[in-house]
Amino acid sequence: MARILIIEDNPENMQLMVYLLTAFGHTVLETTAGEIGLTLASTEAPELILCDLHMPGMDGYEVAQRLKLDLKLAAIPLVAVTAYAMVGDREKVLATGFNGYISKPINPESFVGEIEMFLSSKARSKLKD
Ligand code: MN
Repeated sequence: MARILIIEDNPENMQLMVYLLTAFGHTVLETTAGEIGLTLASTEAPELILCDLHMPGMDGYEVAQRLKLDLKLAAIPLVAVTAYAMVGDREKVLATGFNGYISKPINPESFVGEIEMFLSSKARSKLKD
């Protein structure tokens, strides 16, 4: 089981992601604000961070830049969750420091499996215990 931080300002998306991840036994920390997400990342040591790109205030790109500047936090796998599917967005997401990309709308049948692929091998081996 993994501790997963979700930074997402859309309540329906948040609710669905929390529901699916907790149904599979993961522990979820949630916030709607990038600034709070950065604080939770450093105080709660999640094993994975899911982050929306478009949020009021600090957007997902800035969250990613700040996480990757912090040596302690840079190693946490970081996955963008976004409806944006325009040409070039994937490249921008990866160039900003995200380890990957999940498209909205979230597919309930594949979401947890896709997310678990981003967990570190250490976290994955814990899943098998
Ligand atoms: Mn949003």
